[in-house]
Amino acid sequence: MPKPKVFVFAPADPTGEAHKILEDAGCDLILGAANWETPQGDSELEMARLAEGCDALMGTSIRSTPITQKIMQSSKNLRIVAKFTIGVDDVDVDAATELGILVTHGPTESNWGGVAEGMITNMLTLLKRVRERDRHLKTTGGWRDMELQGTYLGYRASDSYPGIVLGIIGLGRIGSRVARLLRPWGMRMIGYDPYVPDSKFEEFGVERVRDLSKLLRESDVVTLHVVLTKETRHMISEPQLALMKPTAILVNTSRGYCLDEKALIEALQNKKITGAALDVFENEPLPADSPLRKMDDRVLLSPHMVSSNVGSGLKPGLLWATRSVLAALRGQVPDNVYNKEVISQWESRFGGKSIL
Ligand code: NAD
Repeated sequence: MPKPKVFVFAPADPTGEAHKILEDAGCDLILGAANWETPQGDSELEMARLAEGCDALMGTSIRSTPITQKIMQSSKNLRIVAKFTIGVDDVDVDAATELGILVTHGPTESNWGGVAEGMITNMLTLLKRVRERDRHLKTTGGWRDMELQGTYLGYRASDSYPGIVLGIIGLGRIGSRVARLLRPWGMRMIGYDPYVPDSKFEEFGVERVRDLSKLLRESDVVTLHVVLTKETRHMISEPQLALMKPTAILVNTSRGYCLDEKALIEALQNKKITGAALDVFENEPLPADSPLRKMDDRVLLSPHMVSSNVGSGLKPGLLWATRSVLAALRGQVPDNVYNKEVISQWESRFGGKSIL
């Protein structure tokens, strides 16, 4: 029996541990050129050629060359596309489902919990003027500067200060973790997510708003935690930014395309909002000539690694994807299938048929 072929389209396995697990199980690995540090690699044509005859594809995010129908069609044996990360917006999931291929992803707590912590860090960095105060001391030789006032976040019973309002868009894993972590701070939290029940809002202490405009008008901080879909693409664009308070800040750790980057730049330049913290961008890596790279402290940028922490980050997702690939090669349905509607079709083709 020929060895199963696994195309790792965007490898992210610095220790080689996952690759060894696959090789020890008898797989032949083909490694793509993209990697986590610079997620740009082979062209679609090259990827389609590399995927020929493969039984599995796996990798981290690869927005520069998404996993298209053409790439998946280049192997009729293909059983699975296994992502190490949470998002599958770089895989044509509809095409995979049509072709009877499983798409799996890696919603590990180290990843989504890391995003929630990173979101809060970025919000506080902006609101508490952390960078400015530090730079002031290191570069001016001065002392206190009343220009460097921060923002008090929570409600104060002692003087009835109301606290700020946090608007959470998307109350999934990350949005609800943000709410759980921030609840003790005592600010008012409002949330917009048409797809989760009232009970979830109650559980996390978030007041439900059924109208995104209301959230945008009332929030001092707006944070985006939606998945990227046709519906959420550019869900925050010029008209939505125009509803925000001029003093408000926007935090995006979801996906670059959930936000219209051009409209955001315009809103920042014209002081329609006060600031933004961005971990994700429409084009990644963020182009060297992006106006965002030249903006002052009102903008806080990070290179799509808000969830990356020592000893966690991608590794649990990588190992999960590895287990998913091995399960699929054994003819078993992995436990993290994203396109669940394909499972029965998949089982009738590959169920119980091991090639390991
Ligand atoms: P999730 O699926 O648990 O939650 C997403 C939520 O968005 C769901 O509750 C869903 O109901 C809601 N939603 C969908 N459409 C909506 C709409 N039109 N309006 C409002 N809400 C809507 O996902 P998650 O694990 O919480 O991840 C959230 C986002 O963070 C995703 O885009 C994911 O790709 C991204 N992410 C980024 C990083 C990073 O490194 N920056 C890491 C992990 C995940």
